[in-house]
Order: sequence, then C-alpha cells, then structure tokens
Amino acid sequence: MYSNSIDIVEVSPRDGLQNEKTLVSTADKVALVERAIAAGARRIEVTSFVNPKAVPQMADAEAVCTGLPVRDDVTYIGLVMNARGAARALDTGRIDQLGAVAVATDQFAMANQGQTSDGSVEAAKDIIAMAQAAGKTGQVTIGAAFGCPFEGEVSEDRIVAMAQAIAEAGPIEIGLADTIGVANPAHVASLISKVRGAVPGLPVRVHFHNTRGTGLANLWSAILAGASVADCAIGGLGGCPFAPGAAGNISTEDVIYMLDRAGVRTGMDLQHLIAANHWLADVMQRPLPGMVAKAPPFPKQA
Ligand code: ZN
Repeated sequence: MYSNSIDIVEVSPRDGLQNEKTLVSTADKVALVERAIAAGARRIEVTSFVNPKAVPQMADAEAVCTGLPVRDDVTYIGLVMNARGAARALDTGRIDQLGAVAVATDQFAMANQGQTSDGSVEAAKDIIAMAQAAGKTGQVTIGAAFGCPFEGEVSEDRIVAMAQAIAEAGPIEIGLADTIGVANPAHVASLISKVRGAVPGLPVRVHFHNTRGTGLANLWSAILAGASVADCAIGGLGGCPFAPGAAGNISTEDVIYMLDRAGVRTGMDLQHLIAANHWLADVMQRPLPGMVAKAPPFPKQA
C-alpha cells in the first residue's frame, strides 16, 4: 500500500532555469511562479542566493523576490549555500523557507560550494539555525545522494550518517537528490527506507533528474518507500552547472499525470501545467523535455 497524497515542490524557477544559457527576464520568472501557483503549487523554490558570477541566471534573486505574489498559502523557498546567501534571502523579507544543500562527496562538494562534504553538513546546519532565528523554517537536500559525477558510487551508510547529523539541527525535512540522474528504483527504495529508519518522524523529500530516463520510475519507488514530498519542474527543465552532463528535473506535468492516474493526490491541476509547459517553451524558444504536454489528452475530453 502507498500514500494517497504527496506534496509537490515546484523547482522550475530555480533548478529548472539555473543551467540555461539564455538569461530569462525577471518578469518571466515571476510569471512562471504565478503559473505554478495557478496550477496549485503551494511550495515553490523561487531562486537561489549564490554568487552571480558562478550562476548568472540567478543574479536577479532579490528582484524576483520583490515581484512574488503576496500569498499566505504559498511557501517561497530560497536556496542558499552559506551564511551570506542565507542573510541575503532573509533580508528580502519574502522568503519563507531556506533550502540548504549538503553534498555527499568531497569532490562534488568542492566543485559545488568550495568545501568538504563534512563542511557542507556544518554549513547546512548553520543555515537551518539562521532560518529558525528569523522565525522561518529550514530544510536540507543531500546532493549526489545516489551517485557522484566525480567519485562514482556513494555508500548508503554515508547518506544515513549525513541525515542523522543534519537532523540534529531541526530541519522540517531531509531531501535526497539524484543530482546527476543515476539512481534506479531499487536503490531509491533501499536508501529511503534506511534514512527513514535512521531519522524517524522526519519527512523525506526526493529530487530526481531524468538524465538517464529513470526519473519517474524512481519517484514511484520513492512513494512506495514512504517519501512524502517530491521536487519537480514544469517542462522538465533543469541541470546543475557544477555536475557535468546533468539533465532536466522530472517534469511536473508528467509527474502529475502519473500520480493523478494512480490515485495519488497532489493538489495540482494537469491542464494548467500543460498550458504552463507551452508558455515556457515559448519563453525558451524550444520544445521542453516533458512528454505529457506533447501527447494527446487521456482520457478523451468530453
Ligand atoms: Zn536538481
């Protein structure tokens, strides 16, 4: 048996766009957030507060925040890598939740944020503390949890130990990210059950990239294993500037089609998402990876 509902975090404005070479206007980023809300998204990763030299697409983080619709029922998430980014996010007054990243391997942690894996765990705990001190919430995603672009296989024991260390800081959830899209459903089931056993009561969020076509299978396996939150991106855009060969996130509309048909509620509306895919394809001036938006409706509309 599996849960009949899960929560969705829409990550297109951040993870979806961060690797795009063409700079998307602030107005279009805000419009993307508005479309996500109209489609039912209630947690949205809106931007990241990183060095604009490292990620030029996110240079307008503060301006995006200024443009966000004022909504009591939507949680806006800002991704941050360090105390400086956390302070920037909190200074906007518009970010409800800080998202931190701890990376499973030293080589990827060094490439992604210039620190060791252990250093990234400590930084993530500090970010959670800053969020809490400001009356906000914090969550942590463990990057490269299923495999590393530089070091290869990542041991489950390492991820469990990181989750336990992070849990001490009181995050609202632990995210497990397949940053480079190498996971398979059996690995996903195994790791989630170990992490849930190690940090009982702490919700597990999953973040899959579809680099090798296993994204939706991994998500389904994660739901069966008890993950309660999933990241996905309208259109299936996405990638990581620091992970060679990383491709898009699982697409929100493909996820919602699958879950709707399987009887798992998300609160999101497929027709709005398909329209958002078509709008975003116009903005990006190319077809997007998501598949449902290219397919005929099923079942047939009356
Ligand atoms: Zn990602």
